[in-house]
Amino acid sequence: MKHAKRGRHFFFGPGPTNIPDSVMHAVAHATVDFNDADFLALYDACVAGLKRVLGTRHHVFLYTASGHGAWEATLANLCTPGDRLLMVESGYFSEDWTKLACKFGLEVETLPADWRRGADLADLRRKLAADTGKKLRALCVVHNETSTGVRLPIEEIRRMLDATGHPALLLADTISSLGSMPFSMDDWGIDATVGGSQKGLMLPTGFSFTAANEKAMQAHASASLPRYYFDWTEMLGRRQKGFCGTVPVAFFFGLQKALCLIEEEGLPGVLARHHRLAEGVRRAVAAWSGNAGPQLFCTDPARASDSVSAVLMPDGHDAEALRRTALARFNVALGGGLGPLNGKVFRIGHLGDLNEPMVLGVLGAVEMSLSLNRVPHAPGGVDAAMAWFAEAA
Ligand code: PLP
Repeated sequence: MKHAKRGRHFFFGPGPTNIPDSVMHAVAHATVDFNDADFLALYDACVAGLKRVLGTRHHVFLYTASGHGAWEATLANLCTPGDRLLMVESGYFSEDWTKLACKFGLEVETLPADWRRGADLADLRRKLAADTGKKLRALCVVHNETSTGVRLPIEEIRRMLDATGHPALLLADTISSLGSMPFSMDDWGIDATVGGSQKGLMLPTGFSFTAANEKAMQAHASASLPRYYFDWTEMLGRRQKGFCGTVPVAFFFGLQKALCLIEEEGLPGVLARHHRLAEGVRRAVAAWSGNAGPQLFCTDPARASDSVSAVLMPDGHDAEALRRTALARFNVALGGGLGPLNGKVFRIGHLGDLNEPMVLGVLGAVEMSLSLNRVPHAPGGVDAAMAWFAEAA
């Protein structure tokens, strides 16, 4: 039976995320001259607001590109062909960043990890200690691995670099953590931070950035990978400091509004809301896991992501079939499993412009889809989330 797609489409992938109506309206602003004094003031205010969300007072460079562009820009500005990088394996996105780095002639060593827990820091300590010649130029860490729902303790990684006296740059991908999970670039000693528009910042896709501290800027000065559009020195000389080319003004009107929404709620309030919603999802999954049902993919509760939960299906049950049911019957889009996790997990994004009833809506659709697809599970996931939301206000 075909169902009409009436009502609001519930999009619950882990990014892009729901865009608040007020941000959509802001993006619909009429075109203005990007060299006009009023726009330049808005541009500067947006960069200042972004720095507050990042927790940095250093430079921010912005690109009209999705997150891949910021990955590429960051390596092109910091590295020279032949440089050695250590990629802390976390999942699909650390693998993808590795592929990109290899194409640029960088030598990438991977710190292997179990995707369900993320890297073991004792292995990392050994790896850093073994680099007696201090040859590693940079350590790349995906702060929140969107494919697995595992968050890496990047603050501890900084402390480990300091304890071993290793001079490698610490690069953080915060594409799915910024504005939804605690992150504080300067306090945590992160040298370069990659971020994107389409997740915690509640904007359309197509805009990304890197924040770079003084140590990163010094490394940049001697890095010789080719770049032009992405060149940070070039960008600093431009009128819109930190940007090259025609400025996507519509994005900046949207960013101004999104930053306002974040500041109205207060960043601590935004992070607390994400934690509350994530915990509701985790409690629902824990309830379903009875009767050999689906389980949270992340096996370390201390590392469970507050922006996305990957849910592992019981053996022999297809996550894609479940996603098809949720979409066809309930107009609810869940995230699929990436790479080797395709068909094995589905993902519930719980970041951005969301509240409890929206999360209960998706949990209800998942619980009904589990029954419709005859996936073993214990009922009561939605009840468990409701009980948590009622107590955790
Ligand atoms: N890094 C992480 C953690 C991501 O989640 C994504 C995309 O979802 C990317 C990098 C790549 O960004 P994009 O798809 O915007 O190019």
